[in-house]
Parts: sequence; C-alpha cells; structure tokens
Amino acid sequence: MTKNTVPHWINGARDHGTTDRTAPVYDPALGKETKRVVLANQADIEKAIASAHAAFPEWRDTSIARRQAILFSFRELLNAKKGELAEILTSEHGKVLSDALGEISRGQEVVEFACGIPHLVKGSYTENASTGVDVYSIRQPLGVVGVISPFNFPAMVPMWFFPIAIAAGNTVVLKPSEKDPSAAIWLGELWKEAGLPDGVFTVLNGDKESVDGLLTDPRVHAISFVGSTPIAQYVYETGAKHGKRVQALGGAKNHMLVLPDADLDLVADSAINAGFGSAGERCMAISVVVAVEPVADSLIEKITERMRSLVIGDGRRSCDMGPLVTEQHRDKVASYIDIAIADGADVVVDGRGIEVDGDANGFWLGPTLIDKVPTTSKVYTEEIFGPVLSIVRVKTYDEGVALINAGAFGNGTAIFTNDGGAARRFQNEIQVGMIGINVPIPVPVAYYSFGGWKASLFGDSKAHGMYGVNFYTQEKTMTSRWLDPSHGGINLGFPQN
Ligand code: NAD
Repeated sequence: MTKNTVPHWINGARDHGTTDRTAPVYDPALGKETKRVVLANQADIEKAIASAHAAFPEWRDTSIARRQAILFSFRELLNAKKGELAEILTSEHGKVLSDALGEISRGQEVVEFACGIPHLVKGSYTENASTGVDVYSIRQPLGVVGVISPFNFPAMVPMWFFPIAIAAGNTVVLKPSEKDPSAAIWLGELWKEAGLPDGVFTVLNGDKESVDGLLTDPRVHAISFVGSTPIAQYVYETGAKHGKRVQALGGAKNHMLVLPDADLDLVADSAINAGFGSAGERCMAISVVVAVEPVADSLIEKITERMRSLVIGDGRRSCDMGPLVTEQHRDKVASYIDIAIADGADVVVDGRGIEVDGDANGFWLGPTLIDKVPTTSKVYTEEIFGPVLSIVRVKTYDEGVALINAGAFGNGTAIFTNDGGAARRFQNEIQVGMIGINVPIPVPVAYYSFGGWKASLFGDSKAHGMYGVNFYTQEKTMTSRWLDPSHGGINLGFPQN
C-alpha cells in the first residue's frame, strides 16, 4: 500500500485491511488518478463490524452528559477545521470550494441538532395509569447501524445520519462512496480528537461486497442508505429481508413550476443556481423547468444570458461550476444531449467543448439548456445527474401539476409565483416530499426531516430531525406497581381503574 491509498478506519485507527482489491480515486479537475481506495474483503468486513459490535455495550451505557460533551467537541473541531475538509471534497468530487464549505455547514447543522440529544431521547411517565400503577417509556439505542453514502455529498450525507445515531448511543459503520472516500477518514480522525471511544465510528471502504456484508450481518440492526433508486430498492428489500430497519433514499428528477405571474429574474437566477450548482450532481437539483405559457421564451432568454457569465473550471480557483465526478459519468451525462437532438428537442446551449479555467484533461461538461423536451424522451424521464436543464412548456397550472405528479420520483419540487393561493394549492396537491415556494432547492433544516416520496425513498423513515431520532432508537414501555398494604386479590380481566 502506498501513502496514496485510502484505508479503512477501524478501532480508532487507519487500517489497510487484507485485501488486494482497490479502486481508483480521481481528481476530476485534473482528470487524473491521484489515489486508490481499498475495497474490503470478507475478513475486513468482519473486523469492522466486530469492532463496532464490541464498542456498543460501553458506549450505550456512557452517560448522556458525556456523549453530549463529545458531540460538542466534535462540532467545535469541525467548525474550526472545515477548510481542510472542503479541500478534500473539491479534490475528489470536483465541486467548487465555496460549495464544499456549504455542504459541510449543512452537515454541521445536524451535529448541532444532535447536541440536543438529552432532550431528544427523553421518555414519558404517567403516574396512576391505573390505581397504583405507573406507565413510562424510554428510548434505547439499537446497536451497530450501517450508513451507506453516495458520491455527491461525501461529508453532508454521512452527517445526516451518524451524529444522531452516535449521540443516541449506537455505534456506526460508514461505507462511503468509493469515488470520494477520503472525507470519511478525515471525519474518523476528527471523532478521535473529539474523544469518541475507539470502535464507535468505523469507516469500511468498499463496493457491493461491503454493502452486502452490512445488509446481511445479524449484528447490524439498521441501515441508512442514500444513492440511486435501483440500489436503494435493492438495499431496502435485502435489509428488510434480514430483519433490519432500513431507510433508503433514492434518486430524483425535480421540477420547477413557473406560473405566468412569477418574477422571471428571480426564476432565472434560481434555475441557474439549482440546475448547475455542483454541476447538477445534487439530488435536489432542478432538472426540469415547467413553464406555464406565455413565459417560456422570455425565461429562456434570461436563463441563456446568465449562462454566458458562468465560469467553469477547477474548483480551487474562483469558478462557478466544477467538473463532473468521473470521465464515465461525464460521458453518460453528455450522451443525453444527443438523445435530446434525436428526440426532436431544441438544444439552446450545448455544454460540450466549452472553454474552462482548468486542466484540459478534467472531466468537463458545460451547462446545457434544452427546450421543448418531449415528455416521452429519456432526457425527461431519466435522472441525468449533471448540468443539463430541460424546459417543458405547458398551457395551464393544472397541466403542470399533472405532469409533475405523473413522475416516478418525488424528492423535491418548487413553484414560482406571486399568488399565495396558487402556492397553497400546489403545496396541497403535489405528490412530492419537499416543496419550495419561490425557493428552488428546499432542503429542510436539520430539525425538520429530509426525504422524498415514491421512488425517492424506500422505507418509512426520512433522515434527521425527529425521524432520525426515532429511527436510531427503540421505545421500551414499562408498566409498574410497587406493592403497598392495600394490594391484593385475583383479577383475570384487564384492570380498568
Ligand atoms: P450509487 O447508487 O451508485 O451508490 C451509492 C452507494 O451504493 C455507494 O456507496 C456505492 O458504493 C453503493 N453501491 C453501488 N452499486 C452497488 C450495488 N450494486 N450494490 C450495493 N451497493 C452499491 O449512487 P451514486 O452515483 O454514488 O450517487 C448518486 C445518486 O444518489 C443519484 O441517484 C442521486 O439522486 C442519489 N442521491 C439521493 C439523495 C436523496 O436524498 N434522495 C441524496 C444524494 C444522492
């Protein structure tokens, strides 16, 4: 193993495992392999889960005040050092540094929410539920929980889950994306510095073999997954079959509905930010603008004008948008432009072959705008996950809502209008989990929960907020009677008073 190999993090230390298998990690702005990541074999998977399992009893019984103190310390260290983490994210994912810092801040919000754990896991108590009988409930941790994360948010998505899981007394095995695995190791080192006991936070680097290990091992009690819809469905079904709690967040295809009374300058700015931020590699990116006529032509003009000012390049320089994560992904995203042409759509701005402020070998694709996309085209029906924004023209609000509701996904959506009544109706009628009203990327704050509907979420539980607390704890309810001299008598029925 060379110093450029990304290891596991097991028992509070870097661990290169016993495997010969590795995968490349690229710097997408340079278009060059810069590291290799180890891909766990069965022995490595066993070691990681066994270590988390062994750490559970002591962590579970560590006082809540001590757990909270470690959380506060982790939060302070993260806040002080987030610049380092942002550089790691940019070097492996490609997103621009300011966006990487934004990602970390959103994850940090969940750490801050988890610092309130004493209040969040408080139980309840009813005195004299029946004469002399008290009933009370407590919330206890589950044990080892697995977190499996995607490439697009290597810091934020794991932080949607592990702060709450750890604060609640669980131990966590994180399986990051093999495309950008270094952030997870950095977070492991930060936990150690914050005083977290060894084995409470583990990073297992790997591919399907590691995921299957977590899904089938009886010592793992819950799985939080985020990734594409087919894998989310597989993870949900396999985990559930093995008796685990599973929350599996899947892919997305988010629409922005623009009513004729909307402020078109605000809409154009929002479409640019939400369509091309992070090169469109966000599950809450806007992929389709649904324009209620007659706004489409003037909106396209405003969007196109703004697209001309975007600087694409190396995220370490002052650019607006970076490269895509791998060459293979860039080529797949670019292939949708040919599909659009074949399907009769109008490619208004073609992002292929743009000039960049960066290395010529980077995985570049410029912002692309496609008008009159047929709703039968794969450009409309499939998740593209790149800087390709489609325009679909409709005649009425009802036609727009019906189109959005007919989609397979239900992650996020937005309406742009100055009519409060229309917005209120939209919020009631739309079949999507997270709604923006004149807000293009409606990611809920940490004390609310994140999750979509339909093919965007498998399982009953969203991420963070009270859903997160409930997901990582199980309720135990006690009914107790302490005898006093007046007790007695046989009673075969349910007590009634
Ligand atoms: P992905 O599904 O390819 O990978 C996600 C995780 O699953 C990774 O850790 C990967 O190693 C693992 N994996 C890949 N193939 C597997 C297999 N065959 N069996 C078991 N595990 C496997 O997703 P990605 O490309 O890393 O991320 C992009 C996707 O994630 C997009 O679809 C995006 O919409 C989705 N996403 C969704 C949300 C959300 O909140 N709904 C958030 C972020 C990303």
